[in-house]
Amino acid sequence: MFETERESMVRHQLEGRGIIDRRVLDAMRMVERHLFVNEDDRPYAYEDRPIPIGSGQTISQPFMVALMTQTLSLAGDERVLEIGTGSGYQTAILAELAQDVFTVERIAGLQVHAKRCLDPLNYTNIHYKTGDGTLGWSSQAPFDRILVTAAAPRVPQKLFEQLKIAGRMVVPVGGRLSQELDLVLKKTGGKMQVMHRGGCIFVPLVGKDGWERD
Ligand code: SAH
Repeated sequence: MFETERESMVRHQLEGRGIIDRRVLDAMRMVERHLFVNEDDRPYAYEDRPIPIGSGQTISQPFMVALMTQTLSLAGDERVLEIGTGSGYQTAILAELAQDVFTVERIAGLQVHAKRCLDPLNYTNIHYKTGDGTLGWSSQAPFDRILVTAAAPRVPQKLFEQLKIAGRMVVPVGGRLSQELDLVLKKTGGKMQVMHRGGCIFVPLVGKDGWERD
């Protein structure tokens, strides 16, 4: 279903705006985004915008999912920590492109819903946890890649600690209303290098090392 819409999304919103990672483009051609939104919203699932998924949260715009995933630079053998499962759509894209995905969501109801969408797709490499993702997932650390899909006031320290040397973290950092997409590198000796990858707008990352409330 929606093959034409999906192909058009990849052509115009992704390739047309500079997404060049073949594996990312292929994954976004494969994964059926409409399965991750409410039935009433399915006709809009391939449009160039975020869509509400309940509990005041949104499924990110397709271009932003592609840009974040491309910025992670995945070869296929990585262990990835994702903070903010949300709809589970980004989780599915990561599961296509990495070895294992560890995904943490603060709102239990959203994670249940995401799991219900993902289970029929038969990924065997997704691991779920409900809780405050600003603290990471210490028993599974360290990670090759970390993706934060909610807006942080600063780079969460525990997440940086749980990143491997030579690892990459992608995280929106800034104010509550708008942020910069940051690519955070962990260099030899544990030094942090931050690069900006453009402006973005995400819902707040709420937790111990994030914002105090929604
Ligand atoms: N990748 C998701 C984006 C969802 S929006 C998608 O495309 O559907 C961001 C998500 O981050 C929301 O579901 C929100 O509940 C979650 N979130 C916010 N703060 C969090 C925290 N401290 N730990 C885990 N998840 C958090």
